[in-house]
Amino acid sequence: MPPAYIPRKVEDIIFYYYAKLVIAPASGFSGNYAFIIDAYKRLKSGEARMSDYERELWYIASTPGVCAFCGSTCAKPVTTHVVARSTGVKPGMHNIVYACQGCVASKGESDFIEWWCSDLQKPRDALPRVPLGLYLKIAYELHKINFTLRRSCKGLEELLAISKPLK
Ligand SMILES: [Zn+2]
Repeated sequence: MPPAYIPRKVEDIIFYYYAKLVIAPASGFSGNYAFIIDAYKRLKSGEARMSDYERELWYIASTPGVCAFCGSTCAKPVTTHVVARSTGVKPGMHNIVYACQGCVASKGESDFIEWWCSDLQKPRDALPRVPLGLYLKIAYELHKINFTLRRSCKGLEELLAISKPLK
């Protein structure tokens, strides 16, 4: 979870996890804590921006046959959505990754965070980087369109569940 002084708002949750994703190396991040907070503050102030989808698309293109979720090399990778289509996400390459048959069968159209943390019982700190990057960017766009970036949000798990437009 983000430290207590980070507001529990949609935008802050997205920026905090994005900062963590960009700063933290694949293994452990405890030593980078100050850098994560600094990156969060720069995103928040508008001094830095979340990158376009190119970073993830490039990674996907350069690792054919590797499951974006479990990292295994598979003989017959299939394409799947990171963010469930029921959220109202625009169709497109930005929401598609290659995955192994096992992960696709297990995840289905479930929410990526819920599937990883609740169904698989895997730690939040071990969320796979490429799907998480796409997820955060898509969440940001959805909330921006719906004018809900300042809505209260308890954490990552709630991010897309509360992306419906304000009435
Ligand atoms: Zn897999």
